[in-house]
Amino acid sequence: MLWLPLGPFHAMENQMLVIRIKIPNSGAVDWTVHSGPQLLFRDVLDVIGQVLPEATTTAFEYEDEDGDRITVRSDEEMKAMLSYYYSTVMEQQVNGQLIEPLLIFPRACKPPGERNIHGLKVNTRAGPSQHSGPAVSDSLPSNSLKKSSAELKKILANGQMNEQDIRYRDTLGHGNGGTVYKAYHVPSGKILAVKVILLDITLELQKQIMSELEILYKCDSSYIIGFYGAFFVENRISICTEFMDGGSLDVYRKIPEHVLGRIAVAVVKGLTYLWSLKILHRDVKPSNMLVNTRGQVKLCDFGVSTQLVNSIAKTYVGTNAYMAPERISGEQYGIHSDVWSLGISFMEIQKNQGSLMPLQLLQCIVDEDSPVLPVGEFSEPFVHFITQCMRKQPKERPAPEELMGHPFIVQFNDGNAAVVSMWVCRALEERRSQQGPP
Ligand code: ATP
Ligand code: MG
Repeated sequence: MLWLPLGPFHAMENQMLVIRIKIPNSGAVDWTVHSGPQLLFRDVLDVIGQVLPEATTTAFEYEDEDGDRITVRSDEEMKAMLSYYYSTVMEQQVNGQLIEPLLIFPRACKPPGERNIHGLKVNTRAGPSQHSGPAVSDSLPSNSLKKSSAELKKILANGQMNEQDIRYRDTLGHGNGGTVYKAYHVPSGKILAVKVILLDITLELQKQIMSELEILYKCDSSYIIGFYGAFFVENRISICTEFMDGGSLDVYRKIPEHVLGRIAVAVVKGLTYLWSLKILHRDVKPSNMLVNTRGQVKLCDFGVSTQLVNSIAKTYVGTNAYMAPERISGEQYGIHSDVWSLGISFMEIQKNQGSLMPLQLLQCIVDEDSPVLPVGEFSEPFVHFITQCMRKQPKERPAPEELMGHPFIVQFNDGNAAVVSMWVCRALEERRSQQGPP
């Protein structure tokens, strides 16, 4: 046991706190916090994220005086833990003992998706040892997370992204044309999502795709997935983006409206941002809306590269159930078509059908009235929002500024990420308890 050479009052006066993060099946990392009482639940999860970059941590535990584990999942529970800890510090002081750090046990769970059963063939350089050595005792600066994300962006945006630096881990999912892997980026020590698409195209077309993807470096919105770089190796392109530990919305069960509302606000803001750059998303659907345990919601897979979209379309043909009627019947695609897909996506999430609509129903959308959500089961603003987005006539659908001003969006436009964060964490924990131990 390591005792800290600090008197308790010294620690309290300086509001300094040492949190010892226990690493499962290994040692521990000590984190010195200089503003203990102001510490938020999220800050602790962020630091745990740095210590255990491969795990998705949704909560952590501490032990009370009887050795019982108490779970911390919110700022309220954080306060309770800190006040318990400070009372033990006082007691240790009264008894003339040295102060023990606050010991916490991260509760990690596997993100949605399967294991890498397909074992993508990659280079054979040995991966880094993942905290498998003896106990580490380290001090992480409290602002290190922000700094490292910025650094990562810089490293990656300099075109230094290449296959040798990437260790593929789990498969996050397969889509229409590609497979997304969770991957470890060795130089930055960060976890990424890498989408690998097989494309049999000429070198010329590869170059064109790479240059069309350039615009992604300029996308800077907290509602759009971070882009770190792309590269071709033989006949496959790898597109590296920010990893979202909550996965995509298609795997969540019916979402409570106060959570869904905040998600919708982020999606509308993300779309509005893209439209402001004259980018149409072209593939708005629940699997392209990602969430994380920080409560962020981000859009991915938008069509910045016409050549990439065309090349994928040539290889993998498909209609999807979220396409606007005018698109299915081959008419012009515009912002309004993205708005249709926004409406049908949120309808689908709430109806929790779990699978895409059959093609006959798609044809109905072209020929007949739009589907409507049952009134009574959902709030009036929500039903109105969906109905407006899914008007058959593209011009009757809300324009970007009307979307932002819609009562359903206005009602939830309060920047309360904690609501989404808590819901994601709970849902992941629930999934973990159903799956059993990782
Ligand atoms: P389509 O290919 O038709 O767009 P899709 O969106 O389901 O379908 P992919 O884009 O290949 O397919 O993504 C597969 C799965 O990978 C998604 O459903 C999502 O759950 C997961 N995923 C994609 N990007 C990320 C990411 N950045 N972070 C975490 N999970 C991701
Ligand atoms: Mg996708």
